[in-house]
Amino acid sequence: MAPRETDVIVVGAGLAGLVAASEAVARGASVVVVEQEPEQSLGGQAFWSLGGLFLVDSPEQRRLGIRDSHDLAWQDWLGTAGFDRPEDKWPLRWAEAYVRFAAVEKRAWLRGLGISFVPVVGWAERGDGRAEGHGNSVPRFHIAWGAGPGVVKPFAELARAAERDGKLRFLWRHRVDALETEGGRVTGISGTRLAADDVQRGAASSRDAVGDFRLSARSVIVASGGIGGDLDLVRRNWPARMGTPPAFMVRGVPAHVDGRMIGIAQAAGAQLIHPDRMWHYVEGLRNWRPIWKDHGIRILPGPSSMWFDSRGDRLPPPFLPGYDTLGTLRYLLEGGNPYSWFVLNQSIIRKEFALSGSEQNPDLTSRSLRRTLRRVTSRSRAPEPVEAFKTHGEDFVVANDIATLVAGMNRVGEGTSLDPRKIEDSIVMRDRELGNRFSKDFQLMGIRNARFGLAERLMRTAPPRPILDPANGPLIAVRLNILTRKTLGGLETDLDARVLGADGEPIAGLFAVGEAAGFGGGGMHGYRSLEGTFLGGCLFSGRAAGRAMVQS
Ligand SMILES: Cc1cc2nc3c(=O)[nH]c(=O)nc-3n(C[C@H](O)[C@H](O)[C@H](O)COP(=O)(O)OP(=O)(O)OC[C@H]3O[C@@H](n4cnc5c(N)ncnc54)[C@H](O)[C@@H]3O)c2cc1C
Repeated sequence: MAPRETDVIVVGAGLAGLVAASEAVARGASVVVVEQEPEQSLGGQAFWSLGGLFLVDSPEQRRLGIRDSHDLAWQDWLGTAGFDRPEDKWPLRWAEAYVRFAAVEKRAWLRGLGISFVPVVGWAERGDGRAEGHGNSVPRFHIAWGAGPGVVKPFAELARAAERDGKLRFLWRHRVDALETEGGRVTGISGTRLAADDVQRGAASSRDAVGDFRLSARSVIVASGGIGGDLDLVRRNWPARMGTPPAFMVRGVPAHVDGRMIGIAQAAGAQLIHPDRMWHYVEGLRNWRPIWKDHGIRILPGPSSMWFDSRGDRLPPPFLPGYDTLGTLRYLLEGGNPYSWFVLNQSIIRKEFALSGSEQNPDLTSRSLRRTLRRVTSRSRAPEPVEAFKTHGEDFVVANDIATLVAGMNRVGEGTSLDPRKIEDSIVMRDRELGNRFSKDFQLMGIRNARFGLAERLMRTAPPRPILDPANGPLIAVRLNILTRKTLGGLETDLDARVLGADGEPIAGLFAVGEAAGFGGGGMHGYRSLEGTFLGGCLFSGRAAGRAMVQS
């Protein structure tokens, strides 16, 4: 074999790439990280993320009286993933390894790297109402202090330190266009050098070429992310089981999440599996201060908003806020709904609305306990970024009475004509159910159930009160758009993150991690996620590749 210019090339300076690079350096390898974006983009999507991590049976859960276990988490994972294809062989094995990691080792490893957690554990994806079905039986969403940037920080610091020591090199504005092969082995990369660009982090950078490049290595790790920034690609891969692809979507990820590198790996013989498995949200807001094109922000909803489709019909259970993301998406699309509505009031928004993204949570991102505590102590206002959306966001309608509220919904809904009487009747019927502590309304049952949890009662779930009572007002309606985010399928890999070819055998010299590898195996989530598992999948698969590749 001809001498190589470096031991390892990592394609992508997102979280998965940084973890793989730092693990490889720690084991004595020389590493080059090749990234198409400018330096200010270090950390990729993870920088923008909320930093929510799936942990099982953590001290944070135990302090809140939550009893969790590996077996319960595994039951939830299997009910959620719904593995049902022959190609689920490696995804299933990754899922087993990942849930064990989340229950045994993950927290201690992250704590050792300086990552700590907000003491309040969130209850995401409450599921479809069946013990054996989809969803988290207990709260497991642990937000890292410092949000996404707090998760990226230790790995970025390790990479920067290795750069100073001459063990790692970053090649910014280098876009990989091909994997070089020799006798079936991947031996390097080639691509285009892009013009320098001082564009703001997250905004689309130019694709002006200034030259080309070629680099050889013993191993190449693809850490290039998913496809969620390319709406055409998302629509092309849209599964028939989720209805017709939406004509209008907002983008929950920056433009660099373009999926291009997945096709490049396929051209070198890599096997792509489950491209039709994706994780998009139904609670997207059009960002009033966009950073990237069609920038959407997801609401992380508490359980109390009433949910209506675009015709003003209330969604049936289990399609309740925060329960079943893809089930709700399918329900809405099958009904021909381009969007839907939350209807709530000020006392609900104050307690229950959180927005996903580090820039939307300055209290958590700046690790300010004082500012974070205001979420509990504020009697009237929601967190500032939520109030700002309420004031400036084009999807919000605020009014003191139903007639004005629905008139506003008809304006924002573009061409729809909702009947104020119908909306009012639904709310009145819901409010009437509050006369007793028990109810036949599934949503109210869920709210009361949630409030048995200390964290939910304190931080996330408003006490059930009449929505139409002016004392809890004003009334608020929020148009919810479909928002693209995660790619669940990806390049098929074995447990060492080696990329497999069509014959099921590893392609020598080629590894894949993070979202490009379906967070491990080509899709360790199966059809659905329990949330907080994406950053975790990047950490776990990046670590596995960095370790295994040096051994091999
Ligand atoms: C707003 C937001 C909130 C989120 N919140 C959470 C959360 O709370 N919890 C959770 O678990 N997950 C969350 N996620 C998801 C999670 O952040 C991502 O799935 C994860 O960070 C993906 O990391 P990655 O390293 O695989 O890919 P990326 O971060 O996409 O990085 C890939 C990098 O590869 C580069 N690249 C691509 N192709 C090429 C090429 N051909 N040549 C050179 N470079 C290339 C890209 O420019 C990019 O920098 C969130 C995501 C967003 C956007």
